Amino acid sequence: MKKYDFIIAGGGMAGLSLAYYLTQSSLRDRSILIIDRDVKNQNDRTWCFWEKGQGPFESIVFRKWETVSFHGTTYSGPIDMVDYHYKMLRGIDFYAFIEAELAKYPTVERKIATINRIKDTPQGGFVIADDEPYIADYVFDSTFALKLDQPENHNLLQHFKGWVITTEKACFDPNYPEIMDFRVEQHGDCRFLYVLPFNEKTALVEFTLFNDKLLSQEEYEADLRQYIDRYLDTGAYRISETEYGVIPMSDETTTENPSDHIIRIGTSGGYTKASTGYTFQRTQRYLQDIVHSLHQTGKPHRKRSWFKGRFKLYDSIFLNVLQKHRHPADDIFTKIYTKNSPRVFTFLDEDTRLIDEIRLFTTMPWWPFTAALFDVLRRKIVG
Ligand SMILES: Cc1cc2nc3c(=O)[nH]c(=O)nc-3n(C[C@H](O)[C@H](O)[C@H](O)COP(=O)(O)OP(=O)(O)OC[C@H]3O[C@@H](n4cnc5c(N)ncnc54)[C@H](O)[C@@H]3O)c2cc1C
Repeated sequence: MKKYDFIIAGGGMAGLSLAYYLTQSSLRDRSILIIDRDVKNQNDRTWCFWEKGQGPFESIVFRKWETVSFHGTTYSGPIDMVDYHYKMLRGIDFYAFIEAELAKYPTVERKIATINRIKDTPQGGFVIADDEPYIADYVFDSTFALKLDQPENHNLLQHFKGWVITTEKACFDPNYPEIMDFRVEQHGDCRFLYVLPFNEKTALVEFTLFNDKLLSQEEYEADLRQYIDRYLDTGAYRISETEYGVIPMSDETTTENPSDHIIRIGTSGGYTKASTGYTFQRTQRYLQDIVHSLHQTGKPHRKRSWFKGRFKLYDSIFLNVLQKHRHPADDIFTKIYTKNSPRVFTFLDEDTRLIDEIRLFTTMPWWPFTAALFDVLRRKIVG
């Protein structure tokens, strides 16, 4: 049996990004096998994220904005992102770009197959896909399904349904994506709309919830329709694409390195930011760290500073406030975004200094967050 240097189990966002970074590094002549059950030829998701300057996928960014729009409890209007851009990348463009890049490297092999098993052996990471065995020095696994069910943790879901609509009337301002519009019934949850304009007549309109109960497809659609009818002067409109997704918002500790030859990446590796669900940009950073570590040490383990662990505590406190309904979520987000821009984006990237974090905390309602802090500490100590 051929032994690969690397097997990438799951060629989605994280798997393909990793393959891309490997081929752009000094490791480009290593043998790589990417296994996925699907061919990536659908626009199955759209990624939004913020970034300073030019990123590795700049040439395929579909839209980018310097200012975003926000509708909260006490403020409605633009939020200047200062040094950041809010960027939108379509799944289909990302898959096609990476596909074309990887095709330049004969060392990269693809296999369309369903992975049945991944296990560690003394010889390397072992994968069984469609009953065929494969082995490599390292297996990077983005297919592992997280089990987020420990009661001492917070396990919320970010779930959403969106439509790309084309309207009869010119009703979108292409200069301003709406990152959160809270003008929808909250039902005690956190519910908002995204509106990402492609041009004056086409936009992705997405209804998003943070809670622990999924809705029926009809319920998402009813809210989408109601929002469009109430707030967008569309005239007639046509739905050309649909997007649905569920992202974990959990502070459960995930095992990124379960054994010597297996490394979990992407959502499976716990790369999703628990308090926001944003995953794309963190995945890029973490995978670049892994490739850097492979280059430097021959081992794919990224370095983690213990002091950065404080951001996990902040995430848990925030999830506790949401889960326990300690303060209306629309008001919290209004305070976060309107009193802390652009610091909030640096904070969510976990790049702030402690002093900036304290400044941000002083803009939050103190009692709900203090109560949440004590509850989180109690859960961690008592269980
Ligand atoms: C609709 C949607 C929109 C999102 N929007 C954003 C956003 O705007 N910003 C953001 O930061 N994050 C967003 N996310 C979250 C996150 O960025 C994505 O889920 C991202 O695709 C996660 O990357 P991944 O590689 O971990 O998983 P995936 O991209 O899902 O890749 C996993 C791959 O593994 C394959 N696979 C799984 N099991 C098997 C098996 N047994 N055998 C073979 N192959 C298998 C799948 O086919 C898939 O290709 C979104 C998620 C969704 C679902």
